[in-house]
Amino acid sequence: MEKIRIGIAGYGNLGKGVEMAIRQNADMELAGVFTRRDPATVAIKTPGVKAYTMEDAKNMKDQIDVMIICGGSATDLPKQTPELAKDFNVIDSFDTHANIPQHFANVDAAAKENGHLAMISVGWDPGLFSLNRIYAESILPNGKTYTFWGKGVSQGHSDAIRRIPGVKRGIQYTVPVEEAMDQVRAGKQPELTTRQKHTRECFVVAEEGADKKQIEESIKTMKNYFDEYDTTVNFISEEEFDAVHNKMPHGGFVMRSGMTGENENTHQMIEYSLKLESNPEFTSSVLVAYARALSRMKAEGMTGCKTVFDVAPAYLSPLSADEIRAHLL
Ligand code: NAP
Repeated sequence: MEKIRIGIAGYGNLGKGVEMAIRQNADMELAGVFTRRDPATVAIKTPGVKAYTMEDAKNMKDQIDVMIICGGSATDLPKQTPELAKDFNVIDSFDTHANIPQHFANVDAAAKENGHLAMISVGWDPGLFSLNRIYAESILPNGKTYTFWGKGVSQGHSDAIRRIPGVKRGIQYTVPVEEAMDQVRAGKQPELTTRQKHTRECFVVAEEGADKKQIEESIKTMKNYFDEYDTTVNFISEEEFDAVHNKMPHGGFVMRSGMTGENENTHQMIEYSLKLESNPEFTSSVLVAYARALSRMKAEGMTGCKTVFDVAPAYLSPLSADEIRAHLL
């Protein structure tokens, strides 16, 4: 069996997660890791695999079937994905929802012009949650869709806390409101405000002598981050912070409550949930499965940019069409 040769562009949490996920897929191998930092400072865990500069990538076009781009959504991916799509088949996990149409257009143009296939916004949200929304809405046209996130760490909100004067360490968990989810499950189809759907829990280590009341006030009133939510702020020791808050858990729920039947009074409930101990490791596993799909779709002659909506499930599995019909249907 010829293995799918994967390149990793960017070696942060996701890049390292992709490296580990490749080990769990016998039909894949890691061809190289590309970084903007000095490659000598980046230690790759896979024996025999080297780190290269981003500029080196151009010389390795014939050694890589799919480049998995693991940069950050805020500023890396809008540049990196269209650029790398000129030379490679690429896949990213771009998650700035409002900018997906623009990112898609940029990547689509670059990929089409160079005869490559690209896929953007692959992960769990956007990604698997998007798939569940489209399945649920197509099947139950008369209904209401809800997405709840958490319990999980929000990098953006944690960064915002850490920028407040007097904060030494800080982390923020987004928590879905159980009562709101139960109302949805009961078929009540409630109109929920931002405040009614999620709460925000913060854990902070304050600098010696810092004004804790002031820190709490600054967090709770921060515009666009906390002011629309019920927020709790817990001050803890650095030891507790290191012992308890050292992981990147996340997850959430996609729910659709719909009505069917002659009088449309039969309640049908679809619920999909994820409970992830490591957000980046899980997202990386999704990226690797979709890299397999991408390489198969490219082999069939497709070019341009795609999303999870365009990928038939059979492309994701390492099993043959006969095997998936026999065991999974
Ligand atoms: P990260 O760890 O901050 O890595 C982002 C980039 O930072 C790396 O590619 C790396 O590029 C660079 N970097 C610079 N200095 C570094 C250092 N000392 N150590 C490690 N990396 C360093 O971000 P991440 O957790 O991998 O997440 C990447 C993006 O994935 C996020 O921005 C998020 O938008 C997206 N995401 C999407 C989903 C989804 O469901 N769709 C889920 C989770 C995350 P170089 O190697 O080139 O320096």
